[in-house]
Amino acid sequence: MSINTVGIIGAGTMGNGIAQACAVSGIKVVMVDISEAAVAKGIATVAGSLERLLKKEKISAADRDAALARIKGSTNYEDLKPAQLVIEAATENHDLKIRILKQIDAMLAPDVMVATNTSSISITKLAAVTSRPDRFIGMHFFNPVPMMALVEIIRGLQTSDATHDAVHAMAKALGKTPITVKNAPGFVVNRILVPMINEAFFVLAEGLATPEDIDAGMKLGCNQPIGPLALADMIGLDVCLAVMEVYLNEFGDSKYRACPLLKEMVAAGRLGRKTGQGVYRY
Ligand code: NAD
Repeated sequence: MSINTVGIIGAGTMGNGIAQACAVSGIKVVMVDISEAAVAKGIATVAGSLERLLKKEKISAADRDAALARIKGSTNYEDLKPAQLVIEAATENHDLKIRILKQIDAMLAPDVMVATNTSSISITKLAAVTSRPDRFIGMHFFNPVPMMALVEIIRGLQTSDATHDAVHAMAKALGKTPITVKNAPGFVVNRILVPMINEAFFVLAEGLATPEDIDAGMKLGCNQPIGPLALADMIGLDVCLAVMEVYLNEFGDSKYRACPLLKEMVAAGRLGRKTGQGVYRY
């Protein structure tokens, strides 16, 4: 199925980023949020981002205007009906996502594909609350969406080849590089990334090196653009801890036990950049 209109649920950080990526690639977008203010904020964020691209001469004024004209904001799920693909990018909350998915499933035509941008909820489980588990898939974009090349395409147990192929091709049409992943906690990138960050906290806790030297080691020795401890401060230490706890519960494997130092820092409220102090001071 060729996709010329995408519905997006949630106009926040990820929703408006996905809207921008679609609109600049010539795909029409209907972006739905719960309030007029949230929709307006999402569209204003896209406008600001396109303005910066214009200033850097990455797009023309005509491209900017055409992209913005392709995005329609709404607070009514009914407006999602013209879409061939609806991407759910609402707040990361299990019960909320189930409620949204049931509601749109009852309303959308049977052939419409539904994707979720969830970072942590099982794709198979979300698919199972709809009447279209074969046309349900994970589309895990990375933040900031317009800049980040990767999309993890996550197949639930019942996702059909046709759905996978259509969504994979659509991610390529956005100029992204999709990778195909089977459903499992953390998918691929976060499954590797967050335990690596956790290990950096063990190295720090054991006093093997200073934070600066640990980060310099991983930057210069592994060509990483940012060290794991500085990255933890960006992501939020509480988020890193929560992810490790999900892995420990879901896999039941002690290799995912969170570093006690990470737990201590979270307990102290040293969550990273957002609180002014994590591993480093800001
Ligand atoms: P956000 O808080 O910036 O935006 C969420 C938006 O959803 C808000 O505007 C909120 O008003 C809206 N919303 C809430 N309930 C809704 C409803 N019933 N209908 C329509 N809209 C509703 O969150 P975000 O960072 O954009 O995250 C969205 C999703 O993307 C989450 O599932 C998250 O796990 C995932 N994700 C986030 C990142 C990231 O770095 N932020 C990266 C990858 C995936």
